Amino acid sequence: MELLQENYLRIIERINNAKENSGRGKEEITVIAVTKGISPERIKEAASLGINHFGENRVQEVLPKMEVLPDQLTWHFIGHLQSNKVKDVLPRFSLVHSLDRLSLAKEINKRSKKAKRITEALVQVNVAKEKSKFGLAVTELEGFIEKVVENFPNIKIKGLMTIAPYEEDPQEARPVFRELKDLARQIKVPGAELKELSMGMSNDFEVAVEEGATMVRIGSALFR
Ligand SMILES: *Cc1c(COP(=O)(O)O)cnc(C)c1O
Repeated sequence: MELLQENYLRIIERINNAKENSGRGKEEITVIAVTKGISPERIKEAASLGINHFGENRVQEVLPKMEVLPDQLTWHFIGHLQSNKVKDVLPRFSLVHSLDRLSLAKEINKRSKKAKRITEALVQVNVAKEKSKFGLAVTELEGFIEKVVENFPNIKIKGLMTIAPYEEDPQEARPVFRELKDLARQIKVPGAELKELSMGMSNDFEVAVEEGATMVRIGSALFR
């Protein structure tokens, strides 16, 4: 068996075990293959295994790769998004995971309106309050969602995203994931749907699944 296929099957097995452990056996979890630094050839190989969701965090890197990849792949924008890149991202990505400020919401709304479309987005939350990471503070989240719903009708908020601090022991990430889930449950803003939870990466995806992730973003564990 090819290494990539082996890695993928192992990841699926680990996700299934985490679902069993937490009583989420029947729920769908979307595996997003993170392809930063990965060649189009390997992305095609991943697609041939049945992986359909791909994530990138740099617009400049992914656009040339998309040129040579099949159109039917679903792309997730998972990195910090500069407002001047919104016009390149919107036509090509199905979901923006990194909505983190009103100026970005304003630009996404403007471009979406122009294109007569609704852009789906997750709000990025800096649960662990890391200085090096983007995302809203927990205390700002509800007010931010209210403002987006009120002012930017061409954005549809579908959930929350977070990046847990890297820890040797993935159990350390559990409180971060649990807090994101609690926030999604507690915050009730009419017009925003906080159903999707994008959390968990190569090092901590099982814990994230146990805590309610609906999407995991996996790079190195797949493409190593
Ligand atoms: C790179 C990246 C990932 C994947 O990280 P791995 O540890 O390689 O799985 C997930 N999410 C974001 C936002 C990333 O930038």
